[in-house]
Amino acid sequence: MNDGTIPAVPLKKLETLWLQVGGTLCNLECTHCFISCGPKNDTIAMMSFAQVKERLEESKTLGVKDYYITGGEVFINPEIFEILAVILRYGPLDVLTNGTQISAVKARRLREIQDSADHPLRFRVSMESFEEGANDAIRGKNAYRKAVAGIRCLAHAGFSPILTVTRTWEEEQDAEMESRFIEFLRAAEVPKPQVKILPGFLLGKLADNERPYRDEEYVTEKCFEDFDITQLQCATSRMATGDGVYVCPILVDNPKARMGDNIEETLRPFPLSHSACYTCRVTGMTCKSAP
Ligand code: SF4
Ligand code: SF4
Repeated sequence: MNDGTIPAVPLKKLETLWLQVGGTLCNLECTHCFISCGPKNDTIAMMSFAQVKERLEESKTLGVKDYYITGGEVFINPEIFEILAVILRYGPLDVLTNGTQISAVKARRLREIQDSADHPLRFRVSMESFEEGANDAIRGKNAYRKAVAGIRCLAHAGFSPILTVTRTWEEEQDAEMESRFIEFLRAAEVPKPQVKILPGFLLGKLADNERPYRDEEYVTEKCFEDFDITQLQCATSRMATGDGVYVCPILVDNPKARMGDNIEETLRPFPLSHSACYTCRVTGMTCKSAP
C-alpha cells in the first residue's frame, strides 16, 4: 500500500461550515470520545454568539450552503438559542447533541425558533445502544434515561431526531442493528425514524481505551487510485472554532489541522497526513447527516 507520498485533498467547493459551538466541554465523558470531551475539558472554548456571527458573515460571502454545530455538548452553551436562531438566517442547520439536556420547555423553544425560521432545523442525537446497561457503560450513569427523555421531547415538539451511533459491532451487522435502532425510535414516538452509524476514530479516549492507530494505518497517493479524493468531507467543508478554523470536526483538537484564523485563510488543499484520514478513506465516512 505504501508508495511513500502523502496526498493533499483539494477544497473542491466550500459547501458546509461546521461550528464547534460546545468546544470540548460536555456533561458526559464517553469512553470512546475522540476529542476526550468532558465537564473539565476546556481545551477548546465554547464559541460565543459574536464569534459565530463573525464566521456566518464570512461564510455567506463564500457561498456556504449548510451548517452543522457540535461540541462537546452544544446545549450547555449559555447562548445556544440565540446561536441557533442566527444560524437559521443563513441556511439549514443540523445540531449534534447527546440529547440529555433537552427538556420539554427547551423543546418548545426550539419549536418556536423553527417556526419563525426560513431554513430547516434538524437534530442528531448520539447514543450507543437501545439497552440501558450497554449505553450507560460507555456514556455514564443515567445517560440513557436522559437521552430517551430528550428524544421524546423533541418528537413531541414535531422534530424527528436522527439517532447517531458509533459502530461497536462488525460492519456486516449494520442492517440488523439499524432496524433495531429504528424500532427503538418508533417506541420513542419519533415521526420519521432514521439512524446514522459512524466508525470509531482511534483518537482521544478511544485510543486510550481500545488502541491507537498502528504505524501502517495512514493514506498514500495509491489509496486514491480507485477512490475519488473529493468524496472526503474535507473537500467540501471546514470547521470553525472560537480560536481559528480547522480542516474537519475529527481533527479539531490537533494543532496541525488548524488552517487559519478565518475561513478565507483555509481555502487551500490539506495534506492527509493524519492516521484518522485512513478511517475516512476505508469507511468512506462523512460526519454530515446524509449518507
Ligand atoms: S462523545 Fe459526544 S456526548 Fe460523549 S463525551 Fe464526547 S462530545 Fe460528549
Ligand atoms: S480526518 Fe477525514 S475529514 Fe479530516 S482531514 Fe482526514 S480525511 Fe479529511
